Amino acid sequence: MKFAVLGSGSRGNAVAVRSDGATLLVDAGFGPRTLRRRAEAAGLPLDPLVGIVLTHEHGDHARGAAALAARAGCPVFGTPGTLHAMRVGGVSTVPLPPLGDALQVGPFTVQVARTAHDAREPVAVAIGDGGGCRVGVAWDLGRVTAGVRHLLRAVNALVLEANHDEVMLQTGPYPAPVRERIGGSTGHLSNRLAAEFVSDLWTPALETVVLAHLSEQCNDGAIARRTVARALRARGFRGTLLLASQREALPALSLRPTDQLRLPLPEQPGRRRSPPSGLPPIPEPSS
Ligand SMILES: [Zn+2]
Ligand SMILES: [Zn+2]
Repeated sequence: MKFAVLGSGSRGNAVAVRSDGATLLVDAGFGPRTLRRRAEAAGLPLDPLVGIVLTHEHGDHARGAAALAARAGCPVFGTPGTLHAMRVGGVSTVPLPPLGDALQVGPFTVQVARTAHDAREPVAVAIGDGGGCRVGVAWDLGRVTAGVRHLLRAVNALVLEANHDEVMLQTGPYPAPVRERIGGSTGHLSNRLAAEFVSDLWTPALETVVLAHLSEQCNDGAIARRTVARALRARGFRGTLLLASQREALPALSLRPTDQLRLPLPEQPGRRRSPPSGLPPIPEPSS
């Protein structure tokens, strides 16, 4: 399985996942031409597109969904609340199954969990393939619900919201009601909460983390990366940590199925383990 974050931030969000010669999109917050161009730049073909799964109806996630689905002839998947709020016409819409159940879309298994964000019926999404790979997309979280924690407990890659730095939000340019909405429990996740969540969630199977939906006004990529890297390294993470960009796609990343990973053996009683000798550096993004 491969995936690519085609762009992320308050002006548009989309992730493309490819397996077995088919592509599935999670969110389509850019126009069809931009989505296609960015997928090509990422090295991940958009065709054949088997569906677009929406996390919620806000424009930065759903803006391009109907137009792209019409052109590609594929359905739009969303919770009943999301589909109702969008009122998409002219394309086929399919309600996502109740929480916990899995929906098969081409080669992909789609599962969702409710988030606390201030939309009609928003969800986080986990996409699996037949080969044992699983990628999670969790943005516009508000706070981390028990359902989201459960959904994402065994992913190989995670695209996770790290929206704002709490100090920058409080001292930034937004008026108080906007600050309260963003930082509140139905708004967006801060760097600190993202770091807490992902380090809690971490298992050796989680090799790739992409921080996403960074605020342009109230965050700094270096702070977000440092905050999350510190928490993850403390758990033993040695994988890839990247920052998504609003302006361009990240190159497609390949995942290894969990059963092909050489996971460390559990510690033997009475056997002392030597301390880690210098963790490898976490790579910098290309821009
Ligand atoms: Zn939203
Ligand atoms: Zn959003």
